Formats: sequence, structure tokens, C-alpha cells
Amino acid sequence: MPAHPLLAALTEAVLPQRCIACGHFGAALHSHCLAALPRAEEPRCPVCWTPGPGGPCTRCLEEPPAFEALRARFRFEGDVRRALLEAKFRGKTALLAPLAVAAADVLPAAWHIDAVVPVPLHRGRQRQRGYNQAALIAKTVARRLDCPLAAGLLRRSRATAPQAGLPAAERATNLRDAFEAHDAVGEVLLIDDVTTTGATFEAAARALKHAGANSVYALAIARED
Ligand SMILES: [Zn+2]
Ligand SMILES: [Zn+2]
Repeated sequence: MPAHPLLAALTEAVLPQRCIACGHFGAALHSHCLAALPRAEEPRCPVCWTPGPGGPCTRCLEEPPAFEALRARFRFEGDVRRALLEAKFRGKTALLAPLAVAAADVLPAAWHIDAVVPVPLHRGRQRQRGYNQAALIAKTVARRLDCPLAAGLLRRSRATAPQAGLPAAERATNLRDAFEAHDAVGEVLLIDDVTTTGATFEAAARALKHAGANSVYALAIARED
């Protein structure tokens, strides 16, 4: 039976680390193993990052999302998928920092960010898991960008069904009014571990803009193509 994720995270901190990709000791994820992970290569829609022929996709042209643009460094498959699931459900949070640094490095230089904001968990789920993986990623990204972390700007106003279990058409409905933001200003960078349809970023960006943010950008470690 898997241990409580928080207990697993504590155990993880005192044991020698074994790389999730190659299985050898020395790091949670060696830098050469990180470099070999499946990248979310272009061409993609510059707005929502869906693979395509290049240029904005039909969906973004017809109905632009609430966020300005989204980026993800990796594809959610193979060792990336394993790493993010181990970090989320089995307490292997040491995997998040190297992935977060790699993700932060794909941000376009033209994005001027005033605050980094993680996609929050509902407090019930956070209590159950002991941590929010998006918040851990956001902390590393904020440090990398030398930008303030503003985790308190956004919260979940209600619990929602896990997005992963829902068909694409129901994802947006599931998140309607799920987020609440206050006193948002300037350019915000939203952070999550994985994105699929972008529905979570969309709902969170809507709340941040409603609360006064000028622009909202989104960054995920991985995208499920
Ligand atoms: Zn390795
Ligand atoms: Zn698009």
C-alpha cells in the first residue's frame, strides 16, 4: 500500500536518490536524463500550444482564451508522465525542481512577469496530499525568473471533480466559477504541472482578470497532446 504522500516525501528526503529515468543513483533526475525527455516541439499554436501547422489555431482565432499564451516544455508521456505522477501521488517532490527549471527556460523573453501564481488545490485535497505540486513548481519558477511568488492571489472556491477523469467537453463546465482571485495587478504567470485542453488555466485566468490582472500567461511542465 502506498504511504501517505507527505510521509513518502519525508522518507524521500533522507534516502539516496535514484533517477526516475535511468534508475541509477545520484539524483532524482540526472541533467543528462532531463535533456533526453520528450519535448513539446514546435510547430504549435503560439497561443494555446496545441500542435499544428504553426500560427494561431482555429479555436484561438474564433474564441481567444482568457490567457495571453501558454507554454509547456515537455509532452506528458513516458518518463515525464511517470515523474509528474510520482511527484503528485507518491511524494517524490524532488523531481519537480529540475523539471520546473527546464520549463521556466522556455518562456519567451517578451513575457514580462510581475507575479508567479500556482494553480491552487482545494483545501480539502491539499490537506489530504500535504502539498500542492503546482505550488512547489511555482516556487522554483519564481526563483528562476527572479520574480515574486504570489500564491495567495488565487484560491479554489469549491471542490471540483478531477479533470483527468473527464471528457474534454465537460472540463470547462466542471471548472465554472471554481476559482476566486483578489487584488491581482499587472502581468501574472500561472503555473500548473500538466495541461490538456487548457481548461484549468482558462478558468483561473478568467478569475485573475476579473480581479484586475492586465495579462495572464500560463506555464506547465508538460502538455498532454
Ligand atoms: Zn538518470
Ligand atoms: Zn490555439
